[in-house]
Amino acid sequence: MKDTLYTIPLTDAFKAEDECPFCFIYRNLEQDAISFTLGASYMEDDIREKTDALGFCKEHYKKLYDYGNRLGLAFILQTHYVALQKTLKSTLSHTRAQNLSLLQKLKKGAKVQSASTHTPATQKLNDTLSSCYVCSRIDYNFDRYIKTFFYLLTTNEEFKTLFINSKGFCLPHFTKLLEEAPYHLKEKDQTFFLEESQKKLQESLARIEEDLSWFIDKYDYRNSAAPWKNAKDAIPRGIQKLSGIYVQDEPFKETK
Ligand SMILES: [Zn+2]
Ligand SMILES: [Zn+2]
Repeated sequence: MKDTLYTIPLTDAFKAEDECPFCFIYRNLEQDAISFTLGASYMEDDIREKTDALGFCKEHYKKLYDYGNRLGLAFILQTHYVALQKTLKSTLSHTRAQNLSLLQKLKKGAKVQSASTHTPATQKLNDTLSSCYVCSRIDYNFDRYIKTFFYLLTTNEEFKTLFINSKGFCLPHFTKLLEEAPYHLKEKDQTFFLEESQKKLQESLARIEEDLSWFIDKYDYRNSAAPWKNAKDAIPRGIQKLSGIYVQDEPFKETK
């Protein structure tokens, strides 16, 4: 198969017995993308062209700052500032005062904002705000892991067993896989995947809820000598299952 490159890390992620193998994959990809961005690559013209154009999202500015290599980050930011000033100049030169009708003003509070209030300038500004070089690097590889996952699920018995014995996925990755399944699986395989992953999600929610209850009960002085069972890390696992993040992780830093 052409995605052999992705098979080993994916299998390792399932063997890690994490609350979600795709969170595990995402964290590795994110760390790779951050070390790549602030590694030697930032001096390469084609990479800098991309970081100049895309910038970064809130989360990744923070993670790049925490990583170290402040000089590298200053280089990246400085040329991004140069590029941004150029784009803003042309974007904002078309900004004009708008006369909104009463109806348009009333619609402001409505869930679906009227598209007509999006001027080309605000549209472009929103595009600038939502683009991120680190996210785009992660997304590219993450999609390939999803493809590989569905491929292995239907072609490799050993991998299928790993999936069956796993703790399933976090809610965001479960949702993502549910959306993707019809593009990669035949109907029969989709049914298997849907049933199995839903069962795992329900089991996980019940299991973590029980761990959280025991965590609370442990605060009762009568239980102080009782064993923690699986409750000690119930909060970080509980948050990961809901949101796909590792709250307990220390900031990822450059190793010299
Ligand atoms: Zn996840
Ligand atoms: Zn990002």
